[in-house]
Amino acid sequence: MSDYREMWAGLGLDLKRHDELMALLGRFYPAVYLSQENRPAGMGYFDFVISEVHGLRVKELSDHKAAGGFVAGTFCVFVPEELILAAGGECVGLCAGTDFPAADGERVLPRNICPLVKSAVGFKLARLCPYFESCDIVIGETTCDGKKKAWEILGREVPMYVMETPQKVSNRRQGIWLNEIIALKEKLEETAGRKITEDSLAEGISLVNEKRRALARLYELRKNVPSPISGKDALLVSQIAFYDDIKRFTAKVNELCNELDERVKAAAAPRDGAKRIVFAGCPMAIPNWKMHHVVETSGAEVVCEESCTGTRYFTNLVDENVKTIEGMLVAIADRYVKTPCACFTPNTERLDNIADYAREWRADGVIDYTLSFCHCYNIEHELLRERLDAAGVPVMHIETDYSMGDAGQLETRVKAFLETLA
Ligand code: SF4
Ligand code: SF4
Repeated sequence: MSDYREMWAGLGLDLKRHDELMALLGRFYPAVYLSQENRPAGMGYFDFVISEVHGLRVKELSDHKAAGGFVAGTFCVFVPEELILAAGGECVGLCAGTDFPAADGERVLPRNICPLVKSAVGFKLARLCPYFESCDIVIGETTCDGKKKAWEILGREVPMYVMETPQKVSNRRQGIWLNEIIALKEKLEETAGRKITEDSLAEGISLVNEKRRALARLYELRKNVPSPISGKDALLVSQIAFYDDIKRFTAKVNELCNELDERVKAAAAPRDGAKRIVFAGCPMAIPNWKMHHVVETSGAEVVCEESCTGTRYFTNLVDENVKTIEGMLVAIADRYVKTPCACFTPNTERLDNIADYAREWRADGVIDYTLSFCHCYNIEHELLRERLDAAGVPVMHIETDYSMGDAGQLETRVKAFLETLA
């Protein structure tokens, strides 16, 4: 990696602790990722992105700002990237997947809170994340209690804007969300100092739809038996989708898929005969690879993630046939409000989706993954278990955080579950 220390210092990072964080990633990534055999050559790009995780992309964001653009940070797949792009912004996901800054988060948050929220707030307080420090606006939402209350604390540190997500799945929710989208458009125009136009919004919609199509293609390829790509590699691609340059990312995912097409034709994929697992539940923000590593080093393969770092990110496109700004805003609201997150009630569509995914991805079983203290997904497990029992799909529930302290115990439980699968 080039020397970015001057840039990091300019962003105000705590360089000593940032070095420690980078050193940790530098040890962790080869052990989890580069140790895999027979990886697609196309993963080389994504390895490169990780090698430059706080470097090249942050430099690109800095150049974008210098050229008059802005950077918006988000935490939820409900926040429409199309609008940010249309206003001349770059969108970066700020959800965090490591317990490295957990103690920093606990300075202002309770200990018994979701590790994702604690980690994200901790990164800001510890001045460890160059993406956070690049943001001109940080957009939160009123999804779970942990997030919406954390925004009040985080708002002391960053220019925070909060969208109000409708809590109930009813025919009123589309109108509520449309009003929030219209208000966000105005806020982004104020941040950017320019208006969103029909052309810029149409382009934003088209770019994000293309990214979704590429990811959907990747997930379709994983339906093959054996899957032409490991679950760990596919998860990494999903995680990088949240902050990479959108055009380059989409092109690289399509290149990877071209290679996977050839692998499928040649049946030259790894892990033939391995048990196939669908993950469902909480997002796995980068660099949270813990459960995929446990499952795939236990002899199984992960073939799909029903999560916001998975299918919920790319399912459904925004209608590209509307031409007015008003029509496009409605189309955006229509697409996003359908996202079946456990924060909303009732959420039966998600349960049906998981049962369908188990069949479509030819899974032997489902692992329902809940982050500690995530009440929404934790409580929804009971309903999911009933739904999957009715569909004859074996399911196990795992509740864990970002620490590696329970990795051995999780491995034992996963192996026991795999043995029960026919
Ligand atoms: S799980 Fe829910 S709250 Fe979290 S990113 Fe997904 S949609 Fe947003
Ligand atoms: S994982 Fe659950 S508790 Fe954590 S931020 Fe997402 S919805 Fe909230």
